[in-house]
Amino acid sequence: MQAEIVTIGTELLLGEIIDTNAAWIAQRLTTIGLNLFYTHTVGDNLQRITDVLRTGFQRSNVVITTGGLGPTVDDMTRPAVAAATGRELVLDEDLVQEIAAYFARRGATMTDNNRRQAQLPAGATVIHNPVGTAPAFRVEEGDHVIISLPGVPHEMRYLMENEVLPYLRQRFNLRGVIRSRVLRTCGIGESAIDTRIGDLMEQSNPTVGTAAHPGQTDVRITAKADTEAEALALIEPVERELRRRLGDYIFGTDTETLADVVTTMLAERGLTLAVVETTTHGELTRQLCEGRCGSAALVGAMTFTGAPSLRQALRLSEEAAGDVFPSQAFADAAARAVRSAHGADLGLALIGPHDPARPDSPPVFFSLATPAGVIQGESRQGRAGPSGMGWLVHLGMDMVRRYLL
Ligand code: ATP
Ligand code: MG
Repeated sequence: MQAEIVTIGTELLLGEIIDTNAAWIAQRLTTIGLNLFYTHTVGDNLQRITDVLRTGFQRSNVVITTGGLGPTVDDMTRPAVAAATGRELVLDEDLVQEIAAYFARRGATMTDNNRRQAQLPAGATVIHNPVGTAPAFRVEEGDHVIISLPGVPHEMRYLMENEVLPYLRQRFNLRGVIRSRVLRTCGIGESAIDTRIGDLMEQSNPTVGTAAHPGQTDVRITAKADTEAEALALIEPVERELRRRLGDYIFGTDTETLADVVTTMLAERGLTLAVVETTTHGELTRQLCEGRCGSAALVGAMTFTGAPSLRQALRLSEEAAGDVFPSQAFADAAARAVRSAHGADLGLALIGPHDPARPDSPPVFFSLATPAGVIQGESRQGRAGPSGMGWLVHLGMDMVRRYLL
C-alpha cells in the first residue's frame, strides 16, 4: 500500500509560499500507517499536472492533491484528474446548488466561474466542503484513488481529518501505525553521534536516523506496527540503548526545546536566571522566554551591541572586566554583574564580537556566575547568521543545564 502527494500551484515553484500542505499531510499519513513514497510539486499547467497524476495513479494506491480547485482558469486540477484517469468532465447539478447555497448564506452571489467548480470527472465522488467553496472529490479505479483537496491549508486539514483519513483507513483496511520518538541532543556534533550509534542506524524496524539543527542534533527512532502499543514496544529497547550511549548529551524528547528543559529545571529548583548577551542580538533571551517555564525562571535580560554601553549599564570597572573586549575576564565580570543587578541566583553572560563568523574574529566567551563562583567556556565556531547564533545560544543554555544536572 503506497501513497503520493501532489501539491499544485505555480506560487509554490516560485518560492513565494512554502509547501506546508505536503509536510502536514505526510505527518498525518504516518498516523494511519500508509507509506508515503513520493511528494511532487507542480505548477498550474494542465499537461504537467496530468503527467504527474497519471504516473502516480498507476504506480500508487493513493494520490492526494492539494490546490488548483478554485473557480479561475488557472485552477487546473479538475481537468487534469479527468485527463489522467481517462474521463470526461461533467457538471454536477447538485453541486451547483450546494455552491449557490454557500454563497447565499454569506449574502454573496455566485458567478459563472463558480459553476466551473461543479464540473468533476465522470464518476467522481464529491467530498463535501463545509468550510469553503471549492468542493473536493475523489476518483477511484480498482485499488487506486486520486483524492483532490483545496489548497487553502485550513480547508485541506479539515477535510483530511474528517473525511479523507477515515475513508483511507476503512477503504484500505489500514491497521498499521507509525510511531516516532525523537531524542534531542546538544553539545555533540552529528558526526560524533554517528560514530557512537552508526550501527543502530543500519537496522530496519525501528529505524534510527539523525537530523542536525543549529546547536542541536535530533536522533529519531521510528517503528511500524499493527498497534500503537506494539510500535512503542519496538521503540523502547532501542531508546534505552541510545540513552546508554549518548548519556547526558540527550537533553529532551520529542518537541521539547533546550529552553523548555533549562527553564523547567530552574523553576523546579526555585532558582532564577539573569542573562546578558552581545553577539546574539537577544536570541538567547527570546528562546529562554519561550521556554516552558521562561517567565518564572528568567528574571532579567540585557542585550548590548558592544562594550561601552555594557560597561556603563552594568558599572563594570576596568579592574574587574579588564580592558580587552571580548575576553573571558569581561564575560566573568558581566555574568557576576547581571546576576547581582537582577538579584538572580545565576547570571549567564554571552560576550563576543559582532560578527563571530569572520575568520579573524576573536572567540565568543561564556560565563555562568553561580553562588559558588564562575563557570567558563568559549566558542570559536565559524558559522554565520541564524545557524551560528543557534549554536551560541544552545551552548549558553547547555552550560546552565550542565550546572544543574
Ligand atoms: P481556492 O478555491 O481558495 O482558490 P484552491 O484549491 O484553488 O482553493 P489554491 O488557489 O491553489 O487553492 O491555493 C489557495 C491558497 O492556499 C494559496 O494562495 C496559498 O496561500 C495556500 N496554499 C496552496 N497550496 C499550498 C501548499 N501546498 N502549502 C501551503 N499553502 C498552500
Ligand atoms: Mg485557487
